[in-house]
Amino acid sequence: MNENLRVNGERLWHSIMAMAEIGPGQQGGSSRLALSDEDRAARELFVGWCREIGCSIEIDDMGNIVARRAGRNDALAPIVGGSHLDTQPHGGRFDGIYGVLAALEVLRTLHENDIVTEAPLEAVNWTNEEGSRFAPAMIASGVYAGLFEKDYAWSRADAAGKTLGEELKRIGFLGDAPCGEHAIGALLEAHIEQGPILEAREKQVGVVIGGQGQRWYDLRIRGQDSHAGSTPMAGRRDALLAAAEIISMVHDLAIDFSPHAVATVGEMSVFPNSRNTIPGEVFLTIDIRNPDERALATMASELRSCVIDCIDRYELDCDLDEIWDKPPVSFDPACIAAVENAARKLGYSHQQIVSGAGHDACQVCLVAPTSMIFVPCAGGLSHNEAESAEPADLEAGCNVLLHSMLELANRSA
Ligand SMILES: [Zn+2]
Repeated sequence: MNENLRVNGERLWHSIMAMAEIGPGQQGGSSRLALSDEDRAARELFVGWCREIGCSIEIDDMGNIVARRAGRNDALAPIVGGSHLDTQPHGGRFDGIYGVLAALEVLRTLHENDIVTEAPLEAVNWTNEEGSRFAPAMIASGVYAGLFEKDYAWSRADAAGKTLGEELKRIGFLGDAPCGEHAIGALLEAHIEQGPILEAREKQVGVVIGGQGQRWYDLRIRGQDSHAGSTPMAGRRDALLAAAEIISMVHDLAIDFSPHAVATVGEMSVFPNSRNTIPGEVFLTIDIRNPDERALATMASELRSCVIDCIDRYELDCDLDEIWDKPPVSFDPACIAAVENAARKLGYSHQQIVSGAGHDACQVCLVAPTSMIFVPCAGGLSHNEAESAEPADLEAGCNVLLHSMLELANRSA
């Protein structure tokens, strides 16, 4: 009966553009760190839009916002769309924002067409997905999924020493509802792909079947500071030289496990960081990812033996600490099927895909049925102000969200 129903792509686009005006970046993107004044303004705009179409609002004690559109049978667990409104310091206009506003557009479309679903529908904004201001990332969906204790999450501090709990209170989004107790019948997160696959294969929609596993490491290499002029090349204990080799090894490790593995050294500090002193200490981070659990474990053990071999060759010492181990996730078959059916029915080119990035859906899927809908972004570029997506693709993904949410919400009717 709702076969011909479509979202309003233009309204979706204008909402995304209006949201981007809050915390505008220098180069066309957005800068809206979690629980900043800008994040507060974005939340207030979202809540206002939801109230305009008669949604009730619930805010939990992690600041997650749920806007609810009642169903015929409110005893059923809601079908939820959404993502996050916070951005990287130099973030784009679409990462996260698209998923929240696509869910809002679904609710707006149903509202103006007077369509009531069997189960209630909800749009959610998860707090601090990016993890840029408060580490770790996806902390509030992580609390929801039981991965983090609430006290731990509240105590996370930013660079200035302000805690997540204090900042939630300051911006007026420390709600009463206990995070984790709000039932979710299914969560569908629409998101830009943040990678080049859909664009390269000319597909409008990615049916996301799961997320990569990832492991994060801190590596501290210790050698000896020494004079750059008077210390002969033989016998130096140069921590940066070993670091250079390890960076290259980390790259080769991912190549060895291609096509699905990736590996990155993204952060490095050199001590004492002086041009005429041999560096006696280096700190660097390593991030390895693979969608296959066994392959990821093999990568991890190869990484460890390569690092130790290199450190021994240069006669250095090191601490290699695994600080995060996130196993790969598989999304729910019924949710995946709902997304795939919707894409097929609507006639959009589509393919199954694995998420390379972490998302709130990758946390929530541990406790509720979940899938994601990807749309292409230009050049696969994200976490960059130049991040860009086509209005037609955003509209297509939103129509897939609409029809998959309808299917899931009415399946018990
Ligand atoms: Zn995101």
